[in-house]
Amino acid sequence: MIIRFLGTHNAESKDTKLASFVIDNVLAVDAGSLASELTLSEQEKIKAILLTHGHYDHIRGIPAFAFNNTDHTTKIYATSQTFKILSSHLVDGVIYPKFTKKIPFFLEKPSLKFIEIDPFETVNILGYKVLPLPVNHTIISVGFEITSKDGKKIFYTGDTGPGLSALWKHISPNLIILDLTFPNRLENRAINSKHLCPRLLKRELKELQRVMEYFPKVVITHLSPRDEEEIKKEVNEVSKELKIPIDIACEGDKISI
Ligand SMILES: [Zn+2]
Ligand SMILES: [Zn+2]
Repeated sequence: MIIRFLGTHNAESKDTKLASFVIDNVLAVDAGSLASELTLSEQEKIKAILLTHGHYDHIRGIPAFAFNNTDHTTKIYATSQTFKILSSHLVDGVIYPKFTKKIPFFLEKPSLKFIEIDPFETVNILGYKVLPLPVNHTIISVGFEITSKDGKKIFYTGDTGPGLSALWKHISPNLIILDLTFPNRLENRAINSKHLCPRLLKRELKELQRVMEYFPKVVITHLSPRDEEEIKKEVNEVSKELKIPIDIACEGDKISI
């Protein structure tokens, strides 16, 4: 399984892109920078997209991706609330075409197909087993455990606040990709907006250490660019204290498991 990070930040700029990564060039997870960080031929290879939730920074690339890929239908998997948000905002037929329907002289077939998923119900997507699990965020949001055909597993939290420990008994990943948005100085903001800071991350990882017989590789993503140096220092401390490596994902990084 090869994971390629497209966007690893919560804010967009020339150097920082919104949440999205691609597995084995075919399965996209979140779509913040799905169109801006892939060439047109790379976009054509994407056969399915998983969305954790309906916040702008995770769905922004969907209309642009759909516009670029009108000669085939790409399946999007998300909860009904995420589709409600997409259908009433970005894919609403007002600011851009409604890509889920045929459009005379433009779309011979829909370029997007929405497929609803529910927490705790595994779905088979392109040969991957995908288990959506509910996480603690300001709107309905799911993390995904994704298992490849050869049994490699990753768990991606999407945006989440504290409380992941309820999920540990459902998963056994080789790699865990976690939201870490703010430095400790902004812990209250993290708690209010339901994200993690290094101090909160430490608690989650300690609990994971307690219940798991092994420890998965840990990668963090969704960093606030202005606070990045501060976050890196604090994550380093957590890594030393827990005696585990914690990697920080960067746009363009590839991880093979
Ligand atoms: Zn969010
Ligand atoms: Zn986000």
